[in-house]
Amino acid sequence: MKYYSLNNPQHNVSFKEAAITGIAPDKGLYFPESIPQLDADFIENVENYSDTEVALKAITPFIGDEIPQDKLKQIVEETLSFPFPVVKVEEDVYALELFHGPTMAFKDVGARFMSRCLNYFTQDETDKKITILVATSGDTGGAVASGFLGVEGINVVILYPSGKVSDVQEKQLTTLGQNITALEVNGTFDDCQDMVKKAFLDDELKGVNLTSANSINIARWLPQMFYYFFAYKALKAKNKPIVVAVPSGNFGNICAGMMAKKIGLPIAHFVAATNANDTVPRFMNSQEYVPSATIETLSNAMDVSNPSNFVRILELFDKQFGALESEFTSYSFDDKQTVETLQKVYAEDEYLCDPHGAVGYLGLKKYLEGKKDYSGIFLETAHPVKFANSIEKNLKLKIETPQQIKSVLNGTKKAIEISSYEELKEYLLS
Ligand SMILES: *Cc1c(COP(=O)(O)O)cnc(C)c1O
Repeated sequence: MKYYSLNNPQHNVSFKEAAITGIAPDKGLYFPESIPQLDADFIENVENYSDTEVALKAITPFIGDEIPQDKLKQIVEETLSFPFPVVKVEEDVYALELFHGPTMAFKDVGARFMSRCLNYFTQDETDKKITILVATSGDTGGAVASGFLGVEGINVVILYPSGKVSDVQEKQLTTLGQNITALEVNGTFDDCQDMVKKAFLDDELKGVNLTSANSINIARWLPQMFYYFFAYKALKAKNKPIVVAVPSGNFGNICAGMMAKKIGLPIAHFVAATNANDTVPRFMNSQEYVPSATIETLSNAMDVSNPSNFVRILELFDKQFGALESEFTSYSFDDKQTVETLQKVYAEDEYLCDPHGAVGYLGLKKYLEGKKDYSGIFLETAHPVKFANSIEKNLKLKIETPQQIKSVLNGTKKAIEISSYEELKEYLLS
C-alpha cells in the first residue's frame, strides 16, 4: 500500500517510509492511496475468527507485502497480549474496555504495534538507529515507553513537564531504563511540545533519525481499527444496528473506527464525544473550523483544541459534509456533566467509568435519546485508577490499585533535567 501526503497527493511513500518518518516532509499527514475492501463472507462470519485473525485480516491490506504474513501475525499477537472485554452497563448500552494493557490506557495497542513494525523495518540496518522523540502531558509517554521497551534499534526520548504529571504517570515514564530516557523539563507541556517541534525541523539533527510516536503515525493510528471489529464481534448476534461512541481528543481513535467501516465493517453510526474542547462539535454545527484556546478538564487526555486527525476524517468523506454528517455526530460535555455521570452510572448501574469513558457514555446516551432498537457501545479508554484522585473525591470510594500500577510505583525514578532547547539538542547529539 502507498500513502500520500494530505498536503500533496503527488507525494507517495511506502508503509515502511510512512511509519519510519511519521509525517511527510511537507508536514502533511499520510493517508492510504486506496481503501481496501474486506470479503463480505469474512464479515458475515467474523465471530468465528479469533481476535488475532480478525486483526490480521483488517491490517494486512494496509501493509501489503512489506511485512511477511508470518511476521505480521507475530506482531499482531504480541500487540494483542491482553483482553478487550465488552461489559453490559445497561439494556443496549455496553462498554468496550480498552484499558487492560500494560499502562492501562488504550494507547498501548498502537504503541505496541508501531514499535514492532519499526523493529522489523530497521533490523537489517544495524548502524541506523531510530530515535522516537515525544512530548507528553501524561498517558502517551507511558504507553510509548512501555510499548518500545527493549525493542532493538530504537531509542525513546520522552519530554515531560516537571511537576505537572501524576505520580503514576511520572513513574511509568522514568523507571523503565534500558532504551527509554526521560527528560524532565523545567516548563509546561507546551514548552515540551515546542522543543520537540524544533528538533524535527533542526537540520543539525538530521543524522539522529528522529521520528514521532503519536497518532499522526500510520503505524500507531491504523491498528486502532481492531477495537471496532471486537465491538462488532461481541454485539453482532443482537442483530441491531450498532452505534459506537468514542471519547475523542486528537480524533485518531475514532478516525480508525471510521476507516474500519469504510473497509466493510457494518457500524451504523459514530459519535465523537469531546470535553469542553469543542472545536469539532462546533464545526459540525457551523461547518467552520475554528480552534480556540485549549481548556484544562478532568478528562485531560482529551484536552486538545486542534485535533490533528480531523483532516483524515474529512479525507475519508472526500470533504462531502452531507456524507460525513450521515455517519458521524459530535457532542461536547463539561466537567460537571462528567462528574454527574461518573456518580450516576456507579450508583444506578454499578459500573465505574473513568472521566474519559464517562464523556463517551454521555455522547452515546445523547445520540440514542428517543431512538429504539440500537445496540450502543462506548469505549472505556483508561482504567479509573489513572484518575483516582478525582474519582475518589467525587464518588467517595477507594479504588484498588491493580498489579500493573503497583509494580511501577515500586520503581526508582531516573530522569535528566533540562531547561532549554540547547540542552535537548546536546543530549540528542551525544
Ligand atoms: C489519548 C486518549 C483519548 C483520546 O484519543 P484520541 O485518539 O486522541 O482521540 C481518550 N482517552 C484516553 C484515556 C486517552 O489516553
